[in-house]
Amino acid sequence: MKKALVCGAGGFIGGHLIKKLKREGYWVRGVDIKPHEWSPKAADEFLLLDLREQKNCQAALTLADGKFDEVYQLAADMGGMGFIHSAETEIMHNSMLINLWMTHTAAEMGVPRYFFSSSVCVYRDMKPGEPEMTEAEAIPAHPDNEYGWEKLYSERMAQAYSRRYGMTVRIARFQNCYGAEGTWTGGREKAPAAMCRKIAEVEDGGTIEVWGDGSAVRSFIHIHDMVEGIYTLMHSDLEGAANIGCPQYVTVNELVDTVAQVAGKKIHVRHVEGPVGVQSRNFSNERMYSLGWKPKVFLKEGIELTYPWIEAQVKAARGK
Ligand code: NAD
Repeated sequence: MKKALVCGAGGFIGGHLIKKLKREGYWVRGVDIKPHEWSPKAADEFLLLDLREQKNCQAALTLADGKFDEVYQLAADMGGMGFIHSAETEIMHNSMLINLWMTHTAAEMGVPRYFFSSSVCVYRDMKPGEPEMTEAEAIPAHPDNEYGWEKLYSERMAQAYSRRYGMTVRIARFQNCYGAEGTWTGGREKAPAAMCRKIAEVEDGGTIEVWGDGSAVRSFIHIHDMVEGIYTLMHSDLEGAANIGCPQYVTVNELVDTVAQVAGKKIHVRHVEGPVGVQSRNFSNERMYSLGWKPKVFLKEGIELTYPWIEAQVKAARGK
């Protein structure tokens, strides 16, 4: 039986990845600084560890019998645009320490295959209508935020350790991911979850606030497609970073309309000042397509899968 370690197992994507690895027949250890709120028992074993410290990375990677076949590094101090812009030093400090020690310790302990979760935040801002950007175009680098710089540095560090230690490294640059069991409140939630929450909270005909004028272009990938993409990339021969995203591009206003439609509510929008992030996104997913992976869940269907879960959380929180 193959053994996998998932770092960031208490988080959104890590939690879903554990379920995927279990379906594939793996023995899985999860590690995180906090337990998973909704699926705490998905992994065979779950260790509460702060991965900013090397001794904890060593403990995470140590097995009584043998070694891990695969390590998935998804632990990060992260959140949506509001968090990314207000917690620059925490992101650069905490995520950097996690990646520094996990990459170094995994390589030293002879991990054969290592996955690193990067982000499309490594790319510069784009103008609407610009042609698709490929992975190679991340350099020369001009990320919009410090989160992107940290990811870029950690990508390069993983590749350097791969060259020195012969550890196979796979790097994915995730687009904005959403789905059930994702952060939906508290300031770290991303746009799809935030819109679902806001619309679930108001009455039919009510008004919600949206940061910026709503014209920023985004694409959102549903968690089902994301975990399939991670698994496919990890088991491929693809060297270098690969974007994992959905080729459906929408404005933030269109995202709001889609959520309102799924919720069956008429919603008014008040545009307010806020951290919008980049104006536009348009990435090539060709490297992932070359592996036979393609996203299957487009925005309307993805929101249909997500909105009822967030609505239930909103109702449960009100009942408390
Ligand atoms: P998440 O915040 O839900 O999960 C990250 C987990 O890391 C959390 O459970 C957190 O507790 C854990 N963590 C933070 N500090 C830690 C520490 N010191 N020690 C151990 N664990 C620690 O985020 P997610 O959406 O599941 O993202 C997973 C990965 O994918 C991250 O690396 C993130 O940067 C990347 N990513 C996510 C998205 C997205 O849209 N969700 C987009 C691009 C990249």
